[in-house]
Amino acid sequence: MKLNAEKIRNDFPILSQSVNDEPLIYLDSAATAQKPLAVLDAVQSYYETSNANVHRGVHTLADRATSQYEAVREKTRAFIHAADSAEVLFTRGATTSLNWVAKSWGEANVKAGDEIVITIMEHHANLIPWQQLAKKTGAALNYIHLTADGQLDMEEAARLITNKTKIVAVTHCSNVLGTINPIKELAQLAHQAGAVIVVDGAQAVPHMPIDVQELDADFYAFSGHKMLAPTGTGVLYGKRALLEQMEPVEFGGEMIDFVYEQDSTWTELPWKFETGTPNIAGTIGLGVAIDYLNEQDRTAIHEHGQLLLQRLWPQLQQIEGLTIYGPQDIAQRTGVISFNLDGLHPHDVATALDMEGIAVRAGHHCAQPLMRELDVPATVRASFYLYNTPEEVDRFVASLQAVKEFFANGFI
Ligand code: PMP
Repeated sequence: MKLNAEKIRNDFPILSQSVNDEPLIYLDSAATAQKPLAVLDAVQSYYETSNANVHRGVHTLADRATSQYEAVREKTRAFIHAADSAEVLFTRGATTSLNWVAKSWGEANVKAGDEIVITIMEHHANLIPWQQLAKKTGAALNYIHLTADGQLDMEEAARLITNKTKIVAVTHCSNVLGTINPIKELAQLAHQAGAVIVVDGAQAVPHMPIDVQELDADFYAFSGHKMLAPTGTGVLYGKRALLEQMEPVEFGGEMIDFVYEQDSTWTELPWKFETGTPNIAGTIGLGVAIDYLNEQDRTAIHEHGQLLLQRLWPQLQQIEGLTIYGPQDIAQRTGVISFNLDGLHPHDVATALDMEGIAVRAGHHCAQPLMRELDVPATVRASFYLYNTPEEVDRFVASLQAVKEFFANGFI
């Protein structure tokens, strides 16, 4: 099935506005995706008709809010093909999910002399928690680097993952290079070595079908806001056997069984980890975002991103002095592209594009070690999603060319 982006974009009210007197072209979905009306309506409707705290109330609204909220857990389970909805923990986002694994599983299982293996393309959210865990425990933190083509060096991965390795933490898709990593292969390497694999799926779940059982991921983290849902929503999937052994990271209401003056016991999965009043409205919005993505066909969403890249790539190559980072083979990518223009700072390029109504990101993209590896201070990143059209790609290229000429003519 091919996506009809023209039709889809009608569902996103924010996209019909002008920015700096030009029709908005939003190419920053890797930072956060826009929300369809169905998600916005679900949040509004929840507050208008069902707002109550979940789980403990006995009145009708509390019951309604709880069943709507818990229905999303089952929907999320099916969306990532987990075996059991108790393996789906609601969090504030991928960052929280990854921190929970590092704090809970990591601190209980990693000791001095052990090794943690991550990659040089990690977002800081899947880097700093492991770095801090290594510092705290005395474990070594080792990095898998890239091939010349911006893919993971799997030979180095095989060398680094040994029986000293306790954790392999890797992004499914790079938020900078778009690279899609071979998670199944990495899971095999990790498991052969007796390690667990933690996957950062923040950039994968919005774009492609995910089957956590097929991948054999022990933990899989992602954010709602990058997949059309409200901010402040996220998921940590974990295999039941691992979650059962783990201690909660945060303590308070909702997650307890009995509380005594000097000790407490925890309730069962998944609520053992979910303390305090959760983001009920946002999670209900997440459920509707899942419905929306399912209706579009997730393989088609991935293919749409690649079709847009196929249109963009040869046009970018016509622009003199433009360097594209990451895999040259579009089949190895999601709809994310990072580049630089010779002699121009990425922030200047992004600011000039904004004057044309085009939203791109410039900076280190929360991946400073990767920037050092690429030997650049920053890049410009354009990221595409299901509501972007081929015409937007063409306008983007034309604007980029205009920006280049503008700076070349010495107007600054
Ligand atoms: N991992 C990757 C690959 C990301 O792109 C991001 C968001 N930029 C995160 C983790 C963190 O997600 P959040 O800020 O939603 O917690």
